[in-house]
Amino acid sequence: MGKSLKKPSRSQTERWNSSIQSTYGTPSISLVRGKGIEVWDVDGKKYLDLLGGIATNLLGHSHPKVSAAIAKQAKELSHVSNFYSHPQVLDLAERLVKMSGDSSARVFFCNSGAEANEAALKLSRLTGRKRVVAALGAFHGRTMGALSLTGQPSKRDPFKPLIPKVVHVPYGDVKALHRKVNGRTAMLIIEPIMGEAGVVLPPPGYLKAAREICDRTGALLVIDCVQTGMGRTGNWFGFEHEGIKPDAITLAKGLGGGLPLGAMIAIGHSAQLFTAGSHGTTFGGNPIACAAANVVISEIERSSYLSLNATKGALLRNLLSPIEGVIGCRGRGLLIGIQVKDGKAKEITSKLATAGYLVNATSEDVIRIAPAFIITERQIIKFAGAFAEICEEVYDG
Ligand SMILES: *Cc1c(COP(=O)(O)O)cnc(C)c1O
Repeated sequence: MGKSLKKPSRSQTERWNSSIQSTYGTPSISLVRGKGIEVWDVDGKKYLDLLGGIATNLLGHSHPKVSAAIAKQAKELSHVSNFYSHPQVLDLAERLVKMSGDSSARVFFCNSGAEANEAALKLSRLTGRKRVVAALGAFHGRTMGALSLTGQPSKRDPFKPLIPKVVHVPYGDVKALHRKVNGRTAMLIIEPIMGEAGVVLPPPGYLKAAREICDRTGALLVIDCVQTGMGRTGNWFGFEHEGIKPDAITLAKGLGGGLPLGAMIAIGHSAQLFTAGSHGTTFGGNPIACAAANVVISEIERSSYLSLNATKGALLRNLLSPIEGVIGCRGRGLLIGIQVKDGKAKEITSKLATAGYLVNATSEDVIRIAPAFIITERQIIKFAGAFAEICEEVYDG
């Protein structure tokens, strides 16, 4: 570790409040260093990070191979415009095409999940249709286009009017899809698991039914894998267990392993809708972000994380489910929602932070964890032990 930083005279909280807009509220923890799944705050306190930058730091913090790839790329070529090609963007695009299982797939790179979904929304307009169907409770991002797809009134209402002709249907309800998706629908967008909504899983067969309805009506099926992609659920993409092929897949969060990177992968006919000049972004496919993504993918393959994530997820759910106060533990692989009694999610989350564990309450009764793939069985057992202790305190105290 380097020299310890001299503490500023004003608190982190004061500095935050006097310089940063209050979109996130004021954080009570200020982090300065990370290694593996551990992070340290300004006072040197250590935490086990079970949230992973919200499903983003797939290989944890400061992974030696990722750090080395970023440093190497930064020295060689850190940015070029999309007027030019470079090896990192080509490697990554080819890998994503291969992952999609369809050589007709073509990738558009951007910088975030919202942008990936914006790209999908614009793509859908080129079908000549304008209507969109999305799910109630779904989260697709905060920019005006992505927000129009997001199905959460509290996030949407202050910013109306949004993009017209978007309807939201109850998630997991096949009949509602039958009612609302028709020959005038440009696209149906769904998350394989609703992450921000509290790790909500649809009934089995939902994605397959969505595929059939889109096939019948000609609507594009866009699957938002921003949170469920890149191996987290035990497959590269969160929909694979249903054996379907979407018309477009959106990715971000884990894709860059901690660097800002998003992608919209269009497959088949939809891969030909964008033409030169249709869409673009300056930083999309940035060499450093792509270099990070390439090494993250290699490492996931080399370490067999896809199957390991399924096993580790099952272990976490098995250890957490029987804990007093836990009503249920749901998820797939390393995306897990722990439902707790009596609206105590925020209290438990804050007590876990004090005890040195970072998790996130998505609501009054759900705690989400989305740890890095490198989490060990020992760390899982340690976390479950701490969780049980805190629940005992909260529910018996
Ligand atoms: C986080 C998230 C987004 C938005 O991603 P940003 O990078 O924050 O714009 C979109 N869709 C899903 C499913 C997400 O979890």
